[in-house]
Amino acid sequence: MTATKQIYGILCLAIMLLPASPAICQTTINRDKRISDATGIVSSSSLKRTVEELVSFHTRHNMSTQSKEDKGIGAAAAYLEKRLSDLAMGNEDHFSVRRIQYKAGGQGSRIPRVITLPNIVATIKGSLNPEAIIVLLAHFDSRTQDNSDSTAFAPGANDNGSGVAALIEIASILSNHPLPVTVKLMFLSGEEHGLLGAAHMASVAKEENWNILAVLNNDMVSNSHSSDTDNRNNNMLRVFSETIPLIEDELMARERSFNSSENDSQSRQLARYIKEVGERYTDNLLIKLIYRNDRFGRGGDHTPFSRNGFNAVRICEYYENYDRTHKVTETIDGKEYGDVLEGVDTEYLRKNTIVNLSVVMNISYAPAPPAEVYTDVSGLSNKTRVYWKNATGCTEPYGYYLLVRETDSPVWQKKIFVKGNEIEVPYSKDNYFFAVQSVNETGNESLYVFSKGKR
Ligand SMILES: [Zn+2]
Repeated sequence: MTATKQIYGILCLAIMLLPASPAICQTTINRDKRISDATGIVSSSSLKRTVEELVSFHTRHNMSTQSKEDKGIGAAAAYLEKRLSDLAMGNEDHFSVRRIQYKAGGQGSRIPRVITLPNIVATIKGSLNPEAIIVLLAHFDSRTQDNSDSTAFAPGANDNGSGVAALIEIASILSNHPLPVTVKLMFLSGEEHGLLGAAHMASVAKEENWNILAVLNNDMVSNSHSSDTDNRNNNMLRVFSETIPLIEDELMARERSFNSSENDSQSRQLARYIKEVGERYTDNLLIKLIYRNDRFGRGGDHTPFSRNGFNAVRICEYYENYDRTHKVTETIDGKEYGDVLEGVDTEYLRKNTIVNLSVVMNISYAPAPPAEVYTDVSGLSNKTRVYWKNATGCTEPYGYYLLVRETDSPVWQKKIFVKGNEIEVPYSKDNYFFAVQSVNETGNESLYVFSKGKR
């Protein structure tokens, strides 16, 4: 959303609050041509092809065969490796593919014997700042009702052929056009048996001290029909983000209490950013922030990254279909069950892929986020001063946006362009939250940095 759009948003809100006023407002959307050209290439038919090919492996269960060419998780991993290696051809200077194996299972665990499982990771090395990394995740294993059954048909078309297809499409589009920062596309196994592949990658990232800007986990991003309530909607997408960080310690808790920042975790900021940028580049899509790390009693591959302190969210369809996910494929009384291709809405999948691609590109083109962003709370005033520093080791960017929102607003409402490293605004620090982001000449904004109170 542009500054203008934000300001119109405020005006619009004000108009709506007046009795009997018409709720009409205008929005201006400025898109970066490089991003809209890239998102214009995202194709429903190639997304569908990937899902179809994944389904053809009969099952991708974690304990399924790894010795057959056309069946099981081994064949699926080889297929992903081949698709990505084909993209690497001729792009070897910046595009690489790795198979990363890890041990899983053992007595007393959900996988009763020790096995070796593969993650497939494609790295598109950044051209300007390769140390900065954006991570996209999608698990490619599948399951059916009985999670110990490794031979039953488990097509996993939506869960999670859809997320895998989105990442393959993005890999394909970016393969010839590396971005300023590094993008890692992780195709993970072990999810259905306890987020094992993701846990392995998150611990590698932690051990090697990766500079990860954001982790976007795509898990089930193509179902647009709700079971039980029969809603059909492919215009809404959920982004789950943790409210209280999973890694919060005593010091962080004290800071949160001082700032009243329970709605401002780093992953909540990332979720807001995905809403702003994703909606900018995706027509007919409303992105809903869900104030939960994940659904009740269910997890996803972003969680091991959150647990290791990385900024991670889950992107997921708005409505789930419990007649399909993890169900045995069968027809009972004319009703179809099972996670088959028919449950994949390819237009919805196309839009959700665009959300990912536009967010990755916009973060990548943007200058580094500002550092040490503070709200001066040393005195009593109805004006507020917010100040910050350039990112460590970086020259001053073209400018910054101060972001402003009322304490009960879920999203930033105003963006005020600033040259320099501070601004005073006529808004009380008690009635508003503030954040700052860097911006370049072409309007690509960094992630938001929440402004903490400092005396
Ligand atoms: Zn899943």
